[in-house]
Amino acid sequence: MNTGIESKLIIISSPSGAGKTTLCKLLIKKMSNISLSISYTSRNKRLNEINGKDYFFVTRKKFVNLKKKNFFIETATNFNNLYGSPFKNIASSKKKNNHILFDIDWKGARKIRSKYKKDDIIDFFILPPSKSELKKRLVKRGTDNKKEINLRLSYAIDEMKHYSEYKYVLVNEKVQSTVKDIKKIIEYHQLILNQKKFLKSKLKKIIDT
Ligand code: 5GP
Repeated sequence: MNTGIESKLIIISSPSGAGKTTLCKLLIKKMSNISLSISYTSRNKRLNEINGKDYFFVTRKKFVNLKKKNFFIETATNFNNLYGSPFKNIASSKKKNNHILFDIDWKGARKIRSKYKKDDIIDFFILPPSKSELKKRLVKRGTDNKKEINLRLSYAIDEMKHYSEYKYVLVNEKVQSTVKDIKKIIEYHQLILNQKKFLKSKLKKIIDT
């Protein structure tokens, strides 16, 4: 069935602690035509995480092997752990006529931009409302130790310097309204695309007759 949907690569990046995971989950709930690209990682699973849902948790050795076999669109190292987006997710979401959502960092976003057409990508950078709020969220998470929290905070500050590489930059004050804005932007892209297609076929008819 042709739903008129053209699969887009949607990238959402933000420093950890800006509320990205909650945001991505809510976005998928609100937009049924989006599939999440589940990444592979060599980092340890946190207590609340599920293998195959949050990430595919693999050993470093397995990750390196998969990378050698050209399994990933892109990979990156964060906090001494390896992360990567597999190619297979794109094919399966295209089959379903769905957009695909990448919850990845700026390094991964850069790689995807270098491999795919600009028109196929909608990328968002999500900022936390303030530095103190960011720190509060990192501490509240309670899943990382103090050293890890400080490492993530300095990494977050560094990551934020890359916001200008993205088409859209949003401040995540309230997750519901951030999701609403993201949804509107994706729908707007779809509308423009459909309009372009319509005009193209109309023009063809005018020229051909
Ligand atoms: P966390 O360990 O908090 O789940 O993720 C740490 C960082 O790695 C986050 O910025 C997250 O977006 C990023 N990340 C997760 N999966 C991938 C991936 O497949 N590729 C890249 N480049 N970054 C990822």
